[in-house]
Amino acid sequence: MKITHVEVHRIDVPPADPPFSWRRGLSGSAPTGDGAVLRIGTDEGAEGVAVFARPGAAVTLGDLVDRVFRDELVGADPFQREWLWHRVWELDRIHELPLPTLGLIDIALWDLAGRVHDQPVWRLLGGFRDAIPAYASTTTFATTEEFLDVADQCLALGYRGIKLHAWGEARRDAALCQALRAHVGPDIPLMYDGSAGFDLPDAIFLGNALAEAGYLWYEEPMREFSISAYQRLAQSVAVPLLVGETSDGVHMNSADFIRAGAATFGVRAGTTLRGGITGAMRTAHLADAFRVRAEVHGSDIPNHHLCMAISNTTYYESLVTATHVVRERHVDDQGLVHAPTGPGIALPLDYGYGPELRRFVEQPR
Ligand SMILES: [Mg+2]
Repeated sequence: MKITHVEVHRIDVPPADPPFSWRRGLSGSAPTGDGAVLRIGTDEGAEGVAVFARPGAAVTLGDLVDRVFRDELVGADPFQREWLWHRVWELDRIHELPLPTLGLIDIALWDLAGRVHDQPVWRLLGGFRDAIPAYASTTTFATTEEFLDVADQCLALGYRGIKLHAWGEARRDAALCQALRAHVGPDIPLMYDGSAGFDLPDAIFLGNALAEAGYLWYEEPMREFSISAYQRLAQSVAVPLLVGETSDGVHMNSADFIRAGAATFGVRAGTTLRGGITGAMRTAHLADAFRVRAEVHGSDIPNHHLCMAISNTTYYESLVTATHVVRERHVDDQGLVHAPTGPGIALPLDYGYGPELRRFVEQPR
C-alpha cells in the first residue's frame, strides 16, 4: 500500500458557547473560527484523517502540506509510522514546525491503520483499560463563589476530581485553592494548572499553599524553558509537580525534566503537543521507566485512545467551560469515559465541527 494523496480541508469550528476565558495575560477566550482536516489516502482506498483546530489552522497546515509534507508522504508506506515520525523531526530541524503540527501525520496514519484493521486505535496500541475516571478541568471564572458553585455542580454530575485554571495571581489563586479544599472536604482529588503564569518566587508561594491544601498535582506554573527553575521549585515545595506540557522535543525533553527531579508527579502526554500518538506513547513509556505518571492532556478524541492505552495515567481531562455545567457527553454519570468502539480514531462526525467534517470525509474523491 502506498500513500497517493494528502489534502487539507478548512472546517468551521463553532465558537465556544458560552465564550470562556483563561488567566489574565492569555488573550481571552476559546479558540474559535477555523480548523483544518488533514486527510492521507492510499492507492488501495484506505484513508486516515487528523483534525487541527487552532486559529489559522487551514492556512498553516495547507502551507506545510504544499511545501513540505506532501512530497515526503506520497509514495511512502502508510504503515511505516516510525519512519515517517522520525522524518517529521528531521523536517522540523529545517522548517521549525509549529508544535501542534508535529503529530498530525502520525494521528492520521494511526486512524488509517485502525480503519484498515477494523480496530480502534487504543486496541492496536495494546489496550490497558476500557474506562477511566474523568476530572473537571475548569476554565477561569470571575469569582471564588462561581468556582465553588461550578465545583459543586461537577461533583454532582459525577466528576471524580477538579482541576482549576485560575487567575494567574499567586496570592489570590492560593486563597481560591484553599477555599475550594475547605468547601469540598479532604477526600476530593484537586489539582491546579498555572498555564505558565508565574516566575519562581510566586510559583514557590503558590506551591506551598497547594501542599498545605493537599492538592494532588501542581501543573505548569512556569514556562517550560528552564528545567533548572523547575528543579528549584521541586526542591522548594512539597506538592507534586506535573510538567512538560508545552515544551518542545517530546520524550527527549521530558527525559531531562524527570532526570532533574522536576517531574515529582509526572509528565504530560497528549496527542496535540507531544508528537501525536507515537510521541505520547514514547513519553508515557519513558515516565513509566522512572515510575512517574504520564497524564493525558486534552479532551479531544485521539486522547481518549491514549487514556485507554497508557498504563501510568490516572484521569481523562474534561474541559468545563460554563457556570451552568453541562457534563461532556463522553463522560457518564459515574464520571467515567469509556473506550471508543469504532475503527481508527473514530472521530464523532455528529459532534462540534461534525457536519463540516462529515461532508469532507464522506465526499467522493
Ligand atoms: Mg495544562
